[in-house]
Amino acid sequence: MKYYSTNKKVSGETLEAAVIKGLAADGGLFMPETIKTLPRSFYENMENLSLQEIACRVAEAFFGEDIPSDTLKNIVCDTLNFDIPVVRMKENIYSLELFHGPTLAFKDVGARFMARLSGYFIRKKGAGQVNVLVATSGDTGSAVANGFWGVDGIRVFVLYPEGKVSEIQEKQFTTLGRNITAIEVDGTFDDCQALVKSAFMDGELNEKLKLTSANSINVARFLPQAFYYFYAYAQMKRLGKADDLVICVPSGNFGNLTAGLFAKRMGLPVKRFIAANNRNDIFLQYLKTGKYMPRPSIATIANAMDVGNPSNFARILDLYGGSHSAISAEISGKAYTDDQIRETIGTAYKETKYVLDPHGACAYRALCEELLPGESGVFLETAHPAKFRHTVEEVIGEEVKVPERLAAFMKGEKQSVPMSKDFQAFKSYLMSL
Ligand SMILES: *Cc1c(COP(=O)(O)O)cnc(C)c1O
Repeated sequence: MKYYSTNKKVSGETLEAAVIKGLAADGGLFMPETIKTLPRSFYENMENLSLQEIACRVAEAFFGEDIPSDTLKNIVCDTLNFDIPVVRMKENIYSLELFHGPTLAFKDVGARFMARLSGYFIRKKGAGQVNVLVATSGDTGSAVANGFWGVDGIRVFVLYPEGKVSEIQEKQFTTLGRNITAIEVDGTFDDCQALVKSAFMDGELNEKLKLTSANSINVARFLPQAFYYFYAYAQMKRLGKADDLVICVPSGNFGNLTAGLFAKRMGLPVKRFIAANNRNDIFLQYLKTGKYMPRPSIATIANAMDVGNPSNFARILDLYGGSHSAISAEISGKAYTDDQIRETIGTAYKETKYVLDPHGACAYRALCEELLPGESGVFLETAHPAKFRHTVEEVIGEEVKVPERLAAFMKGEKQSVPMSKDFQAFKSYLMSL
């Protein structure tokens, strides 16, 4: 499969180049030249397939031309060595729990897949060290750091905004050591993202170091998220609820949602999508006005969605040929304040005993408000509530059990490199490695 850039000045790149480069040389995001549809027989029989079987079929469509079938199968099965339960919350509304991976965040799947895929390319080539740069507002850092931890030939630099991630999130990427370095930036998430982007665009740096990104701009991290949507559909089909299926996605950089749009393009019968946001409602404003107006992000209690310039918006535009009406026909939007998020966590707990995290809460509320009679809805619950324990406990007035896996991270000792948001400082640091 060849990849082109959303800025249209680059095309014909291989998967390997797209994965190792992350961002295209013209500053655009890579897109596959074709999106293969899967045969009707696959969809008809899906409820009888396991998560791994479904994911293998989808991965084959994306990467089958470039990766030997056995290798790809191993990568998929290694990546998905945990469950993705579907939990009924109330009539026609279901939670797809994406947080059962090693860092209890949905990003584990993309990060683990990308680590294994790039590891394969590096081994195959016997190429030198690859440096992964990743900006995080919380959950990306932990998922990527843990996904790549100990992978030979890859160094990971996690850039995060000082004081703006929860303690438990911070511990998950600052305590690992080995090939993982945490960079604590005196600025916001957008500053971190800007530093990473500038590094990719800097000629001198790229001559010295092989740099790549593990944010959802990277196709190897972004595309595997399509697995969730196929799996969600299969589970809903098993429950007899797959007709008029609406999927609601708590969104920040819109990588997850965009992967869902790819799934639909591959023939997955999802009726429509809802993008749920916190107060950073740039996408919702785009839907309302047709104008895309990025602005600085605002800190919220759903901090993994504190994004003021969602990177995958470029992919959504590209996928729909820039048509606002085509986009609005398949996706609607909703946005909530912190108070509304808290209120939703409280009501959901009272009504259903289900403990939402602040991100899932946005999606649950959007689904409750938007679902029409006759439709069934799934929302993606993207983080374990224990990761946002203080917020959640304050609302529900009860203790949230911290899973053993998460508690183990708290015992480690934080190590980070302080950094200003000024690109020159970051560049000097990388040049001196
Ligand atoms: C990253 C993240 C999101 C947003 O995902 P995008 O793909 O960036 O839209 C939502 N919820 C949680 C918990 C996250 O970590």
